[in-house]
Amino acid sequence: MTTETDPDRDSDAETDGKPATDGNAGTDTGIETTAAFTGLDCRDCGTHFDPDEATHRCPNADCDGILDPTYDYDALGATLDRETVASRPFESLWRYEELLPFTRNGAVSMDEGATPLVDCPKLADEMGVERVLIKDEGRNPTGTFKDRGQTLAVTAALRHGATDVALASAGNAGQSASAYAGRAGLDSHIYLPSRSGFTNKAMVNVHGGDMNVVGGRIDAAGAAFEEGLADHDEWYPLQTFVTPYRHEGKKTMYYELVEQLDWEVPDAICYPTGGGVGLVGMYKAAQEFTELGLTDELPGFYAAQSAGCAPIVEAYNEGWDEHEPVETPDTICGGIEIPDPGASSWILEAIRESDGGAVATDDTEILDAATQVAQHEGLEMVPTAAAAASGAWELAERGEFSGDETVVILNTGTGNKEADVLRSHLMSQGI
Ligand SMILES: *Cc1c(COP(=O)(O)O)cnc(C)c1O
Ligand SMILES: [Zn+2]
Repeated sequence: MTTETDPDRDSDAETDGKPATDGNAGTDTGIETTAAFTGLDCRDCGTHFDPDEATHRCPNADCDGILDPTYDYDALGATLDRETVASRPFESLWRYEELLPFTRNGAVSMDEGATPLVDCPKLADEMGVERVLIKDEGRNPTGTFKDRGQTLAVTAALRHGATDVALASAGNAGQSASAYAGRAGLDSHIYLPSRSGFTNKAMVNVHGGDMNVVGGRIDAAGAAFEEGLADHDEWYPLQTFVTPYRHEGKKTMYYELVEQLDWEVPDAICYPTGGGVGLVGMYKAAQEFTELGLTDELPGFYAAQSAGCAPIVEAYNEGWDEHEPVETPDTICGGIEIPDPGASSWILEAIRESDGGAVATDDTEILDAATQVAQHEGLEMVPTAAAAASGAWELAERGEFSGDETVVILNTGTGNKEADVLRSHLMSQGI
C-alpha cells in the first residue's frame, strides 16, 4: 500500500497557490511525511484518510471516531532490523523516524524521549520479582512524557498550517504544549483547572501561552476550552485522541524500553492510566514490533489508577467492553483524574489481548509509593506516576507475579513538579 496523494489537493497550509503538501515531496511548511506512512484509519468506521484531508477525528458524517496513523509494514520490515535501530545514537525519540508520520528534519523537537530505564533492585526484592525497572520519563524537556505526544502533534499542526494551538489539560500536557508551540512560533491557548499544580501554571506563563485557569476540575476546563474553540476557527486542537498524533508519539516509550532490555519483552508494564494515551500507544508499538519481526510477543499491560477515579479498573473487573463514567472523581493524582476516558475500549483491548490487568490503589498508598521509591531507589515520581508503582506493589501482594518476572514501571513525570504534595504527605504523618 502506498499513500494516495492528489497533487491538486488544496490544504490549509497553502500559502502561495501551490499545494502545500504532497507525500514525501517538499512542502511549504518544511514538514514532510515519511516513506512508509500511509495515512490514517478510523478506529470506528474503518475509513482510510489522507493525513492532510483528515487532521483530527473522523470527518465522516455521524462517525467522529479516533484516527490512527498507519504504515506499510511490509516495506518497513524489509529494511528495519535490530542492528539498524541499535546502531543509531540513543538521543531522541526521532531515532525511530521510519515508524513515525513525519521526518525528523523539520520536526518541532527538543530531543525528547531517549529516557533511561533504571534498574531498581530494592523494589525487585520488595515485590518478589526478578527485576523491576523504572522508565524515567521525568527526564523529558518539560519533565513529563507529554513531550512525546506534543513533539508530533505540534509538528502536525505546523504541517497543516496552524497559527494557533489549543487544549484543555490537567496541567502537564498544557505546559508541554505551550513549550512546543513557543518553539514552533505558534500561539497557544491553554485551559487548566484551578487545582492543577503551581509549576504547570507558572510554566505555561513562562512559555508565553495564553493561560485560562478554570474553576473546578478537568471537565470544567474542557467545557471552557470547547467554548473558546467554537469562537476561534483558527485554533488547532491538541486534545488527546482529537489529534491522531499524541498516542503516536507516546508509542516510542515501548520501542525504547524493549531496546534497552536488549530486545527482551518485559513480563509486565505498569502504567498510570488516565486517558490511556500512553498505554494504547505502547500496545500499538508492541503490535508493530511483532509485525516487523523485531519481537515475538506482547508484554502484559497493566493499567494502574487511583481508587478515587478508576473507570478502567471497574470496567476490567466487571468484564465490560467500555467504561462507565465516574460521577464524582476525587484523587490527588490530577494527571489520571479522567472520569470519562473516551478510548476505554482500546485500553481494555490492550489489557485483555496482552493478558495484563488493571489495579486501583488509594491516594495514601500512592503517596507512600512515591516516597518509598524516592527513599529506596532515589528516583522522583510525581504523585500521578506513583500510581503505577503503587499498582505494581498491589499486584505483587495479590500474588500476580510468580518470581521470575521483569516488571517495568512508567515514571511518567518528575517528582519535583509536585514536591509540595509529596512533602505534605510526610507532614500528614507527622514527619
Ligand atoms: C497525563 C498524565 C498521565 C496519564 O496519561 P494518559 O496517557 O492520558 O493515561 C499519567 N502521568 C502523568 C504524569 C501525566 O501527566
Ligand atoms: Zn469513522
